[in-house]
Amino acid sequence: MTSRARLRGSVLALSCAVFAFSAPASRAQAPARVKASTAVKTDRVVIAELVDANRILASLGILDSYGHVSARSPSHPDHFFLARSIAPGLVTAEDILEFDAEGEPVVPTHVLLYRERYLHAAVYKARRDVDAVDHDHSATVLPFSVTQTPLRAVTHDAAFLGQGVPVFDGDPDDSNPGLQISSMALGAAMTAKLGAGPVLLIRGHGEVVLGASIAEAVSRAVNVEKNCRVELQALALGGPIKFITPAETAGRAKLAASNPEFRDWDDLRRRYGVDSK
Ligand SMILES: [Zn+2]
Repeated sequence: MTSRARLRGSVLALSCAVFAFSAPASRAQAPARVKASTAVKTDRVVIAELVDANRILASLGILDSYGHVSARSPSHPDHFFLARSIAPGLVTAEDILEFDAEGEPVVPTHVLLYRERYLHAAVYKARRDVDAVDHDHSATVLPFSVTQTPLRAVTHDAAFLGQGVPVFDGDPDDSNPGLQISSMALGAAMTAKLGAGPVLLIRGHGEVVLGASIAEAVSRAVNVEKNCRVELQALALGGPIKFITPAETAGRAKLAASNPEFRDWDDLRRRYGVDSK
């Protein structure tokens, strides 16, 4: 199958920003930002950005060989783009497939697929405000998923983490727990725990980082990684730690909404993206 067949043209679609949130409010995190721009991208542009997002997060060590990142399709907002089963650092546009709302490939294929594609499908179904999903297994983040120490915002650029990130501890109804989001039912249980926040931890497994754009998801993943390093180092130095306050989280969200910019995305694409070679 050619990439041309997969791209399915460049029909423009309305921004998903017009859709209302359908998920329950999260306990402590700042709500995900509404899209900053109404500019609509083509599927081809989104796929190019998605390839770079894979390369960037792999280059930074946030995505290991088994993580993945996806993006909602502009032309079919119920669908999303995700690579076939391949290490993120090796992804090209030819590897990107289109999946439906149930996490199945739009064009039947015999290539191996990520088992956790349902994680992405469940998020896009539950969160119309989300256009990009990173799922990684960062060892920097994992300690906060297996201890009683909450992942909280300590750095200004991760203020979106708020007062704590929810941890998904598996679905109690799962009769065959495999520590992976390998079905839509597990995905629904996970998104119920996620609520309206931008980040979720999965116990002993990894994290899910959301964005209203690929740039935002990548920027957030980078800043969560930094926040975890700082929080772990602060814990090692001994408390008490001065965390970002709820008022500061709200203030940062207001600033970000009024002046959204992702200079890190532009810089990271230049350094690690396909065109950087
Ligand atoms: Zn995983």
